[in-house]
Amino acid sequence: MTISENLKNFKKALPKDVTLVAVSKTKPVSDLMEAYHAGQRVFGENKIQEMEAKWQKMPEDVEWHMIGHVQRNKVKYMAPFVSLIHAVDSLKLLKEINKEALKNNRTINCLLQIKIAEEESKFGMDEADAASLLASEAFKKLQNIKIVGLMGMATFTDDERQISEEFQKLKDVFEKFKIQDPRFKILSMGMSGDYKIAIEHGSNMVRVGSAIFGERNYE
Ligand SMILES: *Cc1c(COP(=O)(O)O)cnc(C)c1O
Repeated sequence: MTISENLKNFKKALPKDVTLVAVSKTKPVSDLMEAYHAGQRVFGENKIQEMEAKWQKMPEDVEWHMIGHVQRNKVKYMAPFVSLIHAVDSLKLLKEINKEALKNNRTINCLLQIKIAEEESKFGMDEADAASLLASEAFKKLQNIKIVGLMGMATFTDDERQISEEFQKLKDVFEKFKIQDPRFKILSMGMSGDYKIAIEHGSNMVRVGSAIFGERNYE
């Protein structure tokens, strides 16, 4: 199937209140343009310089989401245009994003990444660290960033019960934070392999790559 067919089928099955981030990492601009012509406007990348290069080549009405781990020294490359940074995991990083957002006269929307998987390799904060960050005076001083929700990745496993439990845990944390801060609106969870389970557990933003663009080729 072609990218536009994949996209149309995927969109049909997706509840209306769930935003699809088309994860286009490693894929050429021609593939992104095929998705664009099929109506897709929200794209996710996990490398800042790759995203910047694609931003320069793609139409202006694309929304660019940084879904990968962010190195502080690269924030400046995306600060002029990024619309949502999914994987914020420290106050230090938030301060850098705030600084670069200010330089560009913007407010940058961010999600806090919460660690829900059991794998050591997955980044993210635990609930207590996130809560104390949100309550801190240092955070409240940051005028050019806005935390609009949470993001998480489940363990890579075939055990659907475990995936369900991890997503439900994130949903519970999201609801708790939302009571304290009405700016919490986005719960980013679910990828090609587990988006259905994520939506059952309250996800309203899925990040889907291979189910739309095909398998990635890392060479
Ligand atoms: C690559 C990636 C995705 C998409 O993965 P697929 O399995 O191809 O859908 C989603 N989220 C993050 C953080 C990623 O790095």
